[in-house]
Amino acid sequence: MTDTRTATAALTTLQTVFGYEQFRAHQQDIVDTVIAGGDALVLMPTGGGKSLCYQVPALVRPGCAVVISPLIALMQDQVDTLRQLGVRASFLNSSLAMEEVVAVERALLSGELDLLYIAPERLIQERSLALLERAHLALFAIDEAHCVSQWGHDFRADYLQLSLLHERFPSVPRIALTATADARTRAEIVQRLDLGQARQFVAGFDRPNICYRISLKQSPRQQLLRFLRDEHPEDAGIVYCLSRNKVEETAAWLCEQGFNALPYHAGLDARLRATHQSRFLREEGLVMVATIAFGMGIDKPDVRFVAHLDMPKTIEAYYQETGRAGRDGQPADAWMVYGLQDVIKLRQMMEGSEGSEEHKRAEQQRLNAMLGLCEITSCRRQALLHYFGDHLPGACGNCDTCLNPVDTWNGTEAAQKALSATYRTGQRFGVNHLVDVLRGNATERVTQLRHDELPTFGVGQDLDGNQWRSVFRQLVARGYLSVDMERHGALRLQEKCRPLLRGEEQLDLRRDQPQKAAKRQTKGA
Ligand code: ADP
Ligand code: ZN
Repeated sequence: MTDTRTATAALTTLQTVFGYEQFRAHQQDIVDTVIAGGDALVLMPTGGGKSLCYQVPALVRPGCAVVISPLIALMQDQVDTLRQLGVRASFLNSSLAMEEVVAVERALLSGELDLLYIAPERLIQERSLALLERAHLALFAIDEAHCVSQWGHDFRADYLQLSLLHERFPSVPRIALTATADARTRAEIVQRLDLGQARQFVAGFDRPNICYRISLKQSPRQQLLRFLRDEHPEDAGIVYCLSRNKVEETAAWLCEQGFNALPYHAGLDARLRATHQSRFLREEGLVMVATIAFGMGIDKPDVRFVAHLDMPKTIEAYYQETGRAGRDGQPADAWMVYGLQDVIKLRQMMEGSEGSEEHKRAEQQRLNAMLGLCEITSCRRQALLHYFGDHLPGACGNCDTCLNPVDTWNGTEAAQKALSATYRTGQRFGVNHLVDVLRGNATERVTQLRHDELPTFGVGQDLDGNQWRSVFRQLVARGYLSVDMERHGALRLQEKCRPLLRGEEQLDLRRDQPQKAAKRQTKGA
């Protein structure tokens, strides 16, 4: 439990060692938890201030803090920065010569270190574990904790073995940190790192000055042109496209329309890429038309808009890409058009990609979540933050659905049927099977499982398959259902369902059928 003495010690350390006036929201709670010897799981976006969450406790608690990080290339920098602040920090990785290793080990054992950075593959070696057992340890910080998730894209097998920290050092508190905060990754981190007892902190994902706007793709170029002419005629911004070709064409076309636009993608000559990037940073009012290859490490504060002509394949990507707008805190737009074609294209790319069936299914689910965000009728920011586990108590007033409420239909009954079908089939099935049950399709699987004998069998013939999928996606997007990755995308009822199932809550669903709009579009094309 927090006592005032440790709270004061933490604040004093923050001020005297790191030179900051006060903790950011949540940092204080996190720091207090770890100083008191508790485990913590910290989910914060990049730049949120995760490092201090373990660096301050490292200095307040007696002993040395061990920081596990896969980013070997950054260790030297991190250690140098800390040493400049007077913190006794070192690292152990494969770049060190034997005598350097010995010196670090000796410093650790004689209590001369506050922080020790170590790569996971090194930590799990018996030599390292035996060394740590002889040292006085303040805490373990597991950075980039999402690397333990086989579901994500940064999986590292060495991270799986970090659960042994809990077994071998049961009294040393652990703090795991990541910027990837969706619920599934979080659950996987908790399970695989044995962090069931850890307090979870999710914070700082909101970017209140960004206005989120997503609409159906009708004539994308004209929609983009209208958006740029009406709202950002002179502003710097980024237009994201899926393919290199489209980047080139769109940039050329924008130039014809009188904009100062440049293309950027991995297929361009490295020098040209560098020139375009530095022009974007230096000049005013430049529009960068780019694939996702553009953006990493770009820190331009006055990007006034990020436009997506194609839907990103995950909410994480959408959040990261749109997050490049408005770093200066001034109003900025995250604008996107999407259509069923986007979904089909992304699905095809996923099907064609390498990787296990399980990985593909996971990608599919993340795509569905992205689609859910496109389809919701309630506040986009709330849904976005909900996806990351962050919480916004009320509608934001600064997204399209808040500013211009969408056309909806009363989906209460449809939702009840969908939830009931999910429940009666044992919460073990994905959307397609549930749609078969609702529509009364006696497929082989349905009859084999005797789901044609359920009372919900065939009660949903008033809607077609796509409409039902839209209902399910919206239920997932709003948190009534969760997707269970352990069970291949099976849907599960969430606590939030109860009032809906009891008939105490009405549910409005978005009427727009992206499927129909997209069909019209392809016919016309
Ligand atoms: P993350 O690891 O979450 O990406 P960092 O720990 O690198 O973020 O912190 C991002 C920036 O915010 C750093 O420049 C850091 O010094 C600064 N920062 C973090 N906490 C505070 C604070 N309480 N007061 C002022 N600046 C802070
Ligand atoms: Zn809103």
